[in-house]
Amino acid sequence: MLLSAGRVVTPARVFAPGWLQVEGQRIAEVGPGAPPRPADLELPAATVVPGFVDTHVHGGGGASFDGGDPEACATAVRAHLAHGTTTMMASLVTASAESLRASVGLIADLADDRLLAGIHLEGPWLSRRYAGAHDPELLTDPKPAHVDALLEAGRGHVRMVTLAPELTGGLDAIRQLTAAGVVAAIGHTDATYDVARAALDAGAGVGTHLFNAMRGLHHREPGPVAALLEHPDTYVELVADGVHVHPAALRLAARAKPHLTVLVTDAMAAAAAADGDYHLGRLTVTVRDGVARLADTGAIAGSTLTMAAAVRYAVQVAGLPIEDVVRAATASPATLLGLDRVGALRPGFDADLVVLDDDLVVQRVLRKGAWVAGT
Ligand SMILES: [Zn+2]
Repeated sequence: MLLSAGRVVTPARVFAPGWLQVEGQRIAEVGPGAPPRPADLELPAATVVPGFVDTHVHGGGGASFDGGDPEACATAVRAHLAHGTTTMMASLVTASAESLRASVGLIADLADDRLLAGIHLEGPWLSRRYAGAHDPELLTDPKPAHVDALLEAGRGHVRMVTLAPELTGGLDAIRQLTAAGVVAAIGHTDATYDVARAALDAGAGVGTHLFNAMRGLHHREPGPVAALLEHPDTYVELVADGVHVHPAALRLAARAKPHLTVLVTDAMAAAAAADGDYHLGRLTVTVRDGVARLADTGAIAGSTLTMAAAVRYAVQVAGLPIEDVVRAATASPATLLGLDRVGALRPGFDADLVVLDDDLVVQRVLRKGAWVAGT
């Protein structure tokens, strides 16, 4: 299939117009200008971008990854796929050791089928002070044996773990995860600037939802935000929904790290679903007007974002350049997770792409060479 479009964001290059040749499940060629022969599909008003890569998703379409139920996982995957996310991680909130081990084992079976790119454990090694929507009674300090047990249950599919480095054993856990090839993320943390720096030195590679659920940026105690933003190699996740961060904070981070910003949805079950009452682990979450909050404390409890909506917000409201935004939703998260063949429109890569209209609304989604949404 040869496809031509008004704009193709690879995202290393922007071709306007551009074209793309798909052969089987892979991209064969990408180029600028008019296509080498008449295109099979002409989309002169469209922007074509790589399929989105979301490293932080708890659920969608009314379902959660938490219990590891295959039907629920498939529902969540399908909900995000329809909005352009062709690669996603299953993020699990804090739960008891037994329940997490069971969920991790079940989701590892699905990841074996490549339904999911892997598992992201968000907790249970988080700060009580910045627990956010995590059950504070289940938060613990990381112990090497517990870390090992969860990695073993995941059989190589646990790719990312968010933890608070200031906890007893926190820095050792970061070293243990990094040595096992797992991305250690710092988040839900009361770390000072110095502790955050030590965590990055120990191998932590990313900050989980920067600004949210962490000690704030203060000029005399700049905390994890400054440590993450000034570090030359670490990534920062941002939830661009207009609720989690002010557009100015989003711009500040994205401009500080144009190549290391990762847009995430942090979506819970209500993403691509209706308002109402939901569960996040054992806690009840109420969603009104698309904003998810814990029923008892009112803390923000994840988002109802789709990645397409995050991209639209970052471009249209925050005013960031489309190539930076697309990179943050595709190539950067793929590189962070060490996923080859996804996150860019490049020869040899999976034919995963999203067709956006001139308002950046999803029109069609192609995954591994097959249309999965739109026609
Ligand atoms: Zn979180």
